[in-house]
This record gives sequence, structure tokens and C-alpha cells, in this order.
Amino acid sequence: MTISTLPPNPMSPQIPITNDPNRHPIPKQRKPPYYPASISLLSKCKSLKQLQQIHATIIKSQLHKDTPTLTKLIHFCSLNPSTTMDYARHLFDQIPQPDVVLFNSLARGYSRTHTPIRAVSLFANMLSSGIFPDDYTFPSLLKACATAKALEEGKQIHCLAAKLGLHRNIYVHPTLVNMYAECGDVQAARQLFDQMDQPCVVSYNAMIMAYARSSLPNEALALFRELQASDLKPTDVTMLSVLSSCALLGALELGKWMHEYIKKHGFDVYVKVNTALIDMYSKCGSLEDAVCVFEKMGCRDTQAWSAMIVAYAIHGHGNRAISLFEEMKWAGIRPDEITFLGVLYACSHTGLVDEGRQYFNSMRNHYGINPGIKHYGCIVDLLSRAGLLDEACKFIESLPIKPTPILWRTLLSACGVHGNLELGKHVIDRIFELEDSHGGDYVILSNMCAANGRWKDVDYIRRLMKDRGVVKVPGCSSIEVSNVVHEFFSGDGTHPQSVELHRMLDELVKQLKLVGYVPDTSLVFHPDMTEEVKEVSLRYHSEKLAIAFGLINSPPGTTIRVVKNLRVCGDCHSAAKLISMIFNRQIILRDLHRFHHFKDGSCSCGEFW
Ligand code: ZN
Ligand code: ZN
Repeated sequence: MTISTLPPNPMSPQIPITNDPNRHPIPKQRKPPYYPASISLLSKCKSLKQLQQIHATIIKSQLHKDTPTLTKLIHFCSLNPSTTMDYARHLFDQIPQPDVVLFNSLARGYSRTHTPIRAVSLFANMLSSGIFPDDYTFPSLLKACATAKALEEGKQIHCLAAKLGLHRNIYVHPTLVNMYAECGDVQAARQLFDQMDQPCVVSYNAMIMAYARSSLPNEALALFRELQASDLKPTDVTMLSVLSSCALLGALELGKWMHEYIKKHGFDVYVKVNTALIDMYSKCGSLEDAVCVFEKMGCRDTQAWSAMIVAYAIHGHGNRAISLFEEMKWAGIRPDEITFLGVLYACSHTGLVDEGRQYFNSMRNHYGINPGIKHYGCIVDLLSRAGLLDEACKFIESLPIKPTPILWRTLLSACGVHGNLELGKHVIDRIFELEDSHGGDYVILSNMCAANGRWKDVDYIRRLMKDRGVVKVPGCSSIEVSNVVHEFFSGDGTHPQSVELHRMLDELVKQLKLVGYVPDTSLVFHPDMTEEVKEVSLRYHSEKLAIAFGLINSPPGTTIRVVKNLRVCGDCHSAAKLISMIFNRQIILRDLHRFHHFKDGSCSCGEFW
């Protein structure tokens, strides 16, 4: 609806809308006719153009210098800031003496844009013009600092709030906790949280989210339990952080308990909560439960569809992911960047090279979505998996942005898998140039050299790692049994059951050898090591320890779910396949990149990971 098509107000004389004031001169000293109608239309206004039309009627009504009217307009802009903030600023500059309410409105608007830091510069202007901030000023500023990850500015604002005695205000305090959390200073966030005698649920939510985002799921869950024990009621926002913590831990039992809790307390009406449930089930290795939640959802938005597409993709069901994407388009839901990540990931894990290229092109051509670094990563992965290593290399070198080490690393892993040592060396040089190499890169290159019997190169790489102080990230696998998450490191002897576990693994390897298992000692180890030493070192890898723990501590026939922080090694992969057959157990292993479903002696990844 535009202003010019509105029915005339019967109580007031009609004045046609035009840009030419001389054609229809406005009678002087008359009560402005359109003021109430125009301002009340703001609630229906949907675009900048409509806003400008309303503003035009206000100018016609000679109210363009009236501060309350302009304040209403600016307030409207700040609620819909994506396209209107420049306009709001234009209006703001026309007000000779803006007050703190106006500043707050404008700052709130800026804090919601992609240039939130403008709220802080506005604040500096506000202070220099002698206007005093109030308790509504700080939340917007702190939100702006949180979004812009501007810790220094955030600290200065915190300082000022403390000087004015506003830092414990119910609106200011949670935003302070959130600011520190978003800027990555979880300790400071917690310190602030602990300073409150009775933190409100918003503060709890900010702190739980801080832990979840900083990959500290145990801390997040502990605080959630504390919240439950208090008189406060958790909200849907709490559920999102708690579910993402369960997903991080890969703790399915806990996740299922949370699902029951969500149903009992009526949080399952929220689309976002259901989407988080899909994500949690998928990351905890239960695709069936994820599908079940998705199918029961009455209303599905882009995020919900995307979560399900990503779930199919990471579980190796590329074709199902792609058909769901087609279904999504049929349903008239517009895909976004995340949807395309899932689709491209599905293509790369299903070997659909041509389809992958087509979807990648359609992103920009049909949907106007500019590919980000993760999409480029998917294409590099797609080409690398298909063995098109040179094409992948050229693709990286032709990108419009500077390639990140992760892109090169994807190609490096592929060089390792395909045994392309020459390209591998070229790639590792590019990674070193970016000065962001880590232990894993050296290990891949060293393994490649070892596989080619180039022991001198292996020695050289080890010396290089030592000289440069590069530390190899230790492999760590975790498994949840009876609601407790147990962690194992390679060669770990610290777990209370470790003697039993090592004995179990010794016995296990004997049984595996009977069905054809040959320990893969070709990689990493030096030829000077004896076969026995090599075998023992392989035997106590973290994923094998976790699987053995699962075999001992869970009833026969139940699924064993393990989460590993790095990529699963080839030897453990072969062993897990055979264990699934001998013990008649399904083993679901989530590694750094994907899920492996081991069943009846084979794996869902089709030997490529
Ligand atoms: Zn292993
Ligand atoms: Zn696998």
C-alpha cells in the first residue's frame, strides 16, 4: 500500500501529494491534516520508499522540524535498520538539539546493522555535545561492540557504565556478559556473571551461550543445571545453547534427555529449537532422530531445511540431501549460504562433480549469493576427492580472494590420499608462506614421504617441526556411557579402567588378525623401529581405546558412538570395520570431517574421508 492510494481522511481537507509546493500551496495557520494518519501508518510501512512518502506528508504538514515527529520516524528506522539507517541519520542531523532518547534510538539501529561500530562513534559525539547517557544507552553500545568484536571499545564503555553506577542495571548487566563472551573473553564474562547476587535468566543465557560458543560444553551444561536448580525459568534461548553443547560433546543420551525436557516445557513450538534439535541429533550421530524431528515440524524455515540437508550430507547420504534441496525449492523456500554448503558438501561426498559445479554456479547466478570461503572449500574438496588435483590447485590459485590455509590444507590431504608427493610439496610451500602451518600439515607430508620410502625427508620434516616448535595436536576420542563422557588420548594410561582396556585391546587384535586384519605400520614409523613396537603404538590409538571402552561398558548389540578431534587414521578405520562385524555392533565415529557408520564389516564413507 502506498500513501497516494490511501482513502482520504473525511475529517480533513484533501491535499494532493506532490513535490511542488507552489502548485498546491499549503494554507497557513491550519492544523496539520495528515500528521496523525501518516505517523500511524509507520507500523504498516515496509520499504524505504513508503517511509519517504510518509516523510513527504510530514513535510507538507510543516512538521519536518518537529522533534517528536522526527523522533518517531528515527525510532521506526532503528527497528528496521537494514536499509533505513542512512535516512535516519539524515533526519537526525536536522534536529538542532537532539536528546538522549534520540541518540539511543539511532545507536540501537546502528547496533543491528553490519556496521555496528557506528553506534560507538555516535556515542562519542553524544558525549562531546554534553548529553548524558542513561541505562538505555549502554545495551545498544555493548551489543554493537559484541557484534563488531570490539573488545577495547567494549571495555571503555564498561568502565563508563561502572563510573555511572549502571553496570549492574538489569538491562546493562546481561549485555556486558554477552559483550565479553562474544569478544572471546569468557573468563571476564564469568567474573561479571559471578558478581551478580541474583543473575537474571538473560544473564544466564548470555553466559551459557558464551561457553557453548567457546567450545566449553561441559561448563555450559553445568551452568544450565545451576539455572534449573534456581527459581528462574529457562527460555527457548537457553535451549539453543544447551543443545549446541550436547552436539559439541556428541552426547546423544543427554541430547535425548534434553529433547524430553523441551517437549515437557513446551519449547518444541519454536522453529529455532527444532532446528537446533535436528543439528544436535545429526552431530550426535543419530540421523533417524534428526529426520523424525524434521518430519514432525509444522513450520519449516530456511534454517530448518538447511539443517536437515547438512545432516544428510555429513552422514554420507548425498543423494537424499540433494533431493531434499529440490523439495525445498518446490516448497518455495529460498535457500541461503548454509543450504548451499550442505548441497556442495553432499556433492563432494557422493562424487557428483558436475552437479556440484552446477549448484556452485547457480548460487550466484540464480540466487545472488556470493560464495564464501567455505563454499570454495567444498569445491576444492569436490575436485580433490574426484582425483582432479591439478584442477583443484588451479581453482585455488584463481580465486578472487586470498586463499586461506584451510583451502590449501584440503588439497594437501587429498595429495596424501592420492600419493601425489610433488603437488603436496608445492601445496605445503603455499601453506608455509601464509605462516599458519600446524602439526597436522607436517604429519601429512611426513606420512606421504614415509609411504614413498623417503626416510631422509621424513627425518628432515621431524627436525623442521622441532626447530619451529610445532606441536602435534594429540588425538583424543570421547564416548558417552551412562550419561558420563569419557575421554581417551592415544597411549593413555590415566583412565581408571586403562589396564582392563589395554588387556581388552591385546585380545581384540588377536581376534582381528584371525579375520584378516593386518596392522598398517607403513606410515609414520621409521624403518629402524621393530614391527612389534610399531604395532603396539598403533594398538592404543585414542579411537581404539574409546571403542574398547564402549565394548566393555555397554550391553551387547547396542550402538557405540565415538567422537574424535582429528581425522580417523587408516588403521583404526580398518579395525573398526572388522570390530563391527565380529561383535555385531554398529559403531558410529564422528571425526574432524564427517561421520563413519561401521556396520557388518564396512563403512558408510565408502573408503574416502
Ligand atoms: Zn588410529
Ligand atoms: Zn569410514
